Amino acid sequence: MQQPTPRHNTTGNSNTYEARVPNNPPGGKEAMPMDTEVYESPYADPDELRSSTVDRSQLFLEDGELGSGNFGTVMKGIYKMRKTEKPVAVKILKNDDNLQSVTDEMLREANVMQQLDNPYIVRMIGICEAESLMLVMELAELGPLHKFLQKHKQTTVKNITELVHQVSMGMKYLEEHNFVHRDLAARNVLLVTQHYAKISDFGLSKAVAEEQNYYKAKGHGKWPVKWYAPECINYFKFSSKSDVWSFGVLMWEAFSYGQKPYKGMKGNDVMQMIESGSRMDAPLNCPPEMYDLMKTCWTYKLDDRPGFSVVEPRLREYYYDISQ
Ligand code: AMP
Repeated sequence: MQQPTPRHNTTGNSNTYEARVPNNPPGGKEAMPMDTEVYESPYADPDELRSSTVDRSQLFLEDGELGSGNFGTVMKGIYKMRKTEKPVAVKILKNDDNLQSVTDEMLREANVMQQLDNPYIVRMIGICEAESLMLVMELAELGPLHKFLQKHKQTTVKNITELVHQVSMGMKYLEEHNFVHRDLAARNVLLVTQHYAKISDFGLSKAVAEEQNYYKAKGHGKWPVKWYAPECINYFKFSSKSDVWSFGVLMWEAFSYGQKPYKGMKGNDVMQMIESGSRMDAPLNCPPEMYDLMKTCWTYKLDDRPGFSVVEPRLREYYYDISQ
């Protein structure tokens, strides 16, 4: 008698991303974003109570770090909700003397994330105040895009286009809702599966007034200068258009399989290069259509630079063209 097709990968090799794809459809077909548990908000189910706080007794932390930053560590965990159990990522604030400023930073990040609900953005599930302050988020287990691509050089151009298109959809949502990200880079795009990307790290993000549509920083900070548009550096002005510039750098990182942009150059040299009208060369084997789009994102004048409402359909059309 024929055996039924297993719903999950049963190769036993839990180190491959294929094996860890949640709800991988039968027949070895790629899981689509909507096949995963993190496409819809965990609170989309009316039986789950929407709350911005997570009860510590319902949160179970697992051994092993997913990552770390200057705030502390990110651990994997399970959050027991009323009807389901969700695998989660938990950002845990380290307890040190710097506490107040880092606590404020984390609460600001949580405040922004709480206002966002889009399949291509990591959602916050809630804040948990217990032995440490913890930010509970959806899990994107395959980690940062640049590291994934460094390790998986066989990833196809079609697959990379699919992922950057998803990032552009998340950014279009942010633009429509008047948020600026201010730290858009491949390190801040996390993968749920090889075919599903989400934007993360809202530590520098700001809501902007609709009429003004930009945020003016009070002074220079610890900035990712190589990802920043000229008006950010020269006038401290941040808008969705400056996120578009960063998105061009992110595209360059993705099509170069996770290489560092402007490798070996100092921030000042990069600024001079941009002011003189030069831009990074195309990554090896990058489709000309995608390099043209990067250069469009690096349009010097803000008014001539497109928004995500233009960038997203260009990526969508190119992706559809190569998928025929
Ligand atoms: P961050 O400071 O937000 O950039 O987080 C530091 C690192 O923790 C990231 O580079 C990821 O490797 C990991 N990380 C953060 N958030 C998540 C998440 N939601 N799911 C999986 N890993 C995460």
